[in-house]
Amino acid sequence: MNDPILENLNPSQLQAVKTTEGYVRVIAGAGSGKTKALTSRFAYIVDRLGINSSNILCVTFTNKAAQEMKKRVKALIGDTYDVSFITTYHGFCVRFLREEINKIHYPKNFIILDAEDQKSILRDVFTELQINSKHLTFKQVLRFISKQKSSSNYLSYILENKSFEPDESDSLSSRVFQVYLDKQKRNYALDFDDLIHFTAFILDHNPDVLLKWQENLHYIQVDEAQDSSESQFHLVEILSRVHQNLFLVGDPDQTIYEWRGAKPEYLVEFDTIFPDTQTIIMNRNYRSTPNILKVGNHIIKNNTVRVDKDMITDKPEGFEVVHFHGKNDYEESLWIASEIKEILKSEDAAYSDITILYRSNHLSRNIEQALIKENIPYTIFGGIRFFERKEIKDVLSMLRLIVQGDNFSFLRMHNQPTRGLGKKFLERLIYIAQEQNLSLLQALEKNIDDKELAKKGALDFIKLITELKQDAAAKSISDLVKIILDKSGLSELYRKDGDEDRLENIKELVNSMLLLEKENNAPVNIMEYLQEIALYTDLDADSEKQDKVRLMTIHISKGLEFPYVFLCGFTEGVLPSALSIKERRKRAIEEERRLMYVAVTRAEKRFYMTDSEGFNFTTGLNKYPSRFLFEISEEFYVRKGKLSPEIIANSKTMITQSSGDNSLRFQEGDMVMHPVWNKGKIKSVEAEKNQYIVEFFEIGKEKTIDFSFKHLTKAED
Ligand code: ATP
Ligand code: MG
Repeated sequence: MNDPILENLNPSQLQAVKTTEGYVRVIAGAGSGKTKALTSRFAYIVDRLGINSSNILCVTFTNKAAQEMKKRVKALIGDTYDVSFITTYHGFCVRFLREEINKIHYPKNFIILDAEDQKSILRDVFTELQINSKHLTFKQVLRFISKQKSSSNYLSYILENKSFEPDESDSLSSRVFQVYLDKQKRNYALDFDDLIHFTAFILDHNPDVLLKWQENLHYIQVDEAQDSSESQFHLVEILSRVHQNLFLVGDPDQTIYEWRGAKPEYLVEFDTIFPDTQTIIMNRNYRSTPNILKVGNHIIKNNTVRVDKDMITDKPEGFEVVHFHGKNDYEESLWIASEIKEILKSEDAAYSDITILYRSNHLSRNIEQALIKENIPYTIFGGIRFFERKEIKDVLSMLRLIVQGDNFSFLRMHNQPTRGLGKKFLERLIYIAQEQNLSLLQALEKNIDDKELAKKGALDFIKLITELKQDAAAKSISDLVKIILDKSGLSELYRKDGDEDRLENIKELVNSMLLLEKENNAPVNIMEYLQEIALYTDLDADSEKQDKVRLMTIHISKGLEFPYVFLCGFTEGVLPSALSIKERRKRAIEEERRLMYVAVTRAEKRFYMTDSEGFNFTTGLNKYPSRFLFEISEEFYVRKGKLSPEIIANSKTMITQSSGDNSLRFQEGDMVMHPVWNKGKIKSVEAEKNQYIVEFFEIGKEKTIDFSFKHLTKAED
C-alpha cells in the first residue's frame, strides 16, 4: 500500500481517522500520535471524502502548534488547499469577529490587546484611581481579570449596558476591573479572553449568524482538548450542532492551564454529555525511549486526580536520564553548555535538535550567559532575551551613563522616570552640545544656568548622576545597582507599574552580579562588566536562521518534541513554583507535576534535569532540588555532580514542612483560641500571604496571624 495519508498509522489511529461522523474523542498519553491522527484525519476528510478544507475547523492551543499542524497537513495533501481554519481558538475568533463584530456595533478594525497592552491600560487605571503596587500588583489584577473573564457575566456590562456587579469579596480589584472595562470599551479593544466571549455572545444572540457558521463547519477537530476552557468548549459545541461532527483529542495528564480556566472534565466526561460518543484509546508511545517514558510515567503516578494509564514503546532502551546537581548557578549552566558540546561531538546532532526548558522566563539569564560564553548559538522561543528586557536595559544604561557618560544612555534615561524634561529641553541641549563639542551630559553640567535648561528636573538629574559617580567609586557593583534603583526612582517606577516580572528580573541581575563578585573574590570593574554585557545584547538579529539551541518555557513547549531536552532550574520553589507551594492546595501542586510530565515527555532521545545550590532571590530561601526529583526512583536516572546527604536531608525536611504543618487549618467564620488574646473569630483567610485576619473579642481588634502559628487552636462557637 502506498498511501501517504493512511500508511504508518496504527489500528487505533486508523480508527480515529476513519471515524469521521459523530462525536469522537481520543484520550491518550504524550507522544502517542494524537496530533498525527488528527492531522491525518483532516487530510483524509479533504482528500478521500471530498470535503472542502474551508469547511473543517481544526483548533489547537498555541500558534506554534497550529503552524506545525498546517505543515503536517500540507505534507499530506499538498499546498493547494485553504488551511486557514487550522488555527488556535483565538485565531478562529479573530477571523469570526472580523466578519461579524458589527452585530454588536464594534468596528471591524477593533484592537487586540496583548499582555503588554493590558499592562499599559492598567497603568492608566492605577493612576486614575491613585493606587499603586502596595495596594495591588498587576499580576494580582490580571489574575483577577482573567478569573472574572472565565465566565461571560461581565459582558452584560460592556455589551448590554447593564449595571456593573462588583465582586464583593475583592472590592478594590473589582473597581480596577470596572475602569479597565470602560477603557477597553472606549477604545474598541479586546483582550484574549474577550475574543472567545464576544464570539460566543454574537453566536448566542444572533440565530442567523449562528446558523450560517454552523452550516459552514462540517467537521470540527480540537487538539489539546484537556486545556480548553468552559467557554471554548461552549463555542465548539454550539458550532457543531448542525453537522454534529466533533472530534476531541487530548491527554488529561497534560492539563497545564487550570489556573486560566482549563476544564479537563469536559474531555473526561464528554461521553456523558453526548451519549453516542465513540472513545479511542492509544497507549503506544512513538516519541521517547523507554528510559524517558519510565520517568514520565513514574512522576505522573503521584497525582491523585487522574485516570491511570501507562505508555509503552517498542524503542530500544536508549540513554539513561541524567540529573545534574551543581554547586551554584554557574556550574549548572556551564555543565549544560559542555554537555551540549559533547552531544554535538559524539552524536549526529545539530544545535537545533537541543532544547532547554524552564519554569519561568527569568531563569533564562543564567543559561544565556553560559551559552554565550561557550559560543553556542541559541534563540528564545516566545520571549525576550534577558539582557534585552526593558528594565535590564534601563539599569545598564544608568551604569553606563555614570561611568561613560554616553549620549545613548543619556537619551534613554534623562527623562525616565519622568522629570518634565520634554522635547524643547532636549532640542536646546543637543544644540548646545554640538556647538560646544560636548556630550549631552557634559553640556548639561556646564550649562545648567542656561535659561531653557535650568529646570528642576535637570538639576535633580545632574545631582543624581554626581552622587552616583561618587557611589560608583566607593561601592561594589551590586550595591551600586541597588542605590541606582532607589535614588533614580526606577524602583518606584517599576513598583508603581505593579509589574512583578520587572522587579524579579532586576533581582536576578543583582543576583548575577553578587555571584560574579563572589567568584572573582574581588570587586567587579564596572567598565569591564559593561563591555562584556554589551556582547550579550548585540547578538541575534537573525533568529530565523535556525541552527540554534532553543530556550523556552515548558508552557510553550506543549505538543512539540525535540531529540535532546534539558530541564534547568529543577528547584523547589521554581518547579513546583513558590506560589503553588504557598497555596498548599493539592490541585496547584498537581498542576506543577503535570508541567514536569509535559517537560519530560517532550524528549525523544535524551532527557536531563539540572538544579544547583545557592540562594533563591525570589523566595529568599536556600535552593534545594525539586520535590519531584525525590519522587523519581533513583534506579531510573543517573546522577552527575555531587548531591550531599545533608542537602538531601534538608530538602526533604523543607518539603515536608512546606507541604504539611503550615496548612490552612481554619476557614472564614471559625472560632479560635489564642494564648494571649483569647477568643476570636476568623474574619478572612489571606491565602496569598499565608495569614488569617482574626477579630479578637477581648481586645476588640483585628490582628493578622500567620498560618504557621501553632498556638492558634479551634474554639467552640
Ligand atoms: P503530545 O501529547 O505531546 O501532543 P501526541 O500524542 O500529539 O503528543 P504526536 O506528536 O502526534 O503525539 O506524535 C509523536 C511522534 O510520534 C511524532 O514524531 C509522530 O510523527 C510519531 N508517530 C505518531 N504515530 C506514529 C506511528 N503510527 N508510527 C510511527 N511514528 C508515529
Ligand atoms: Mg499533540
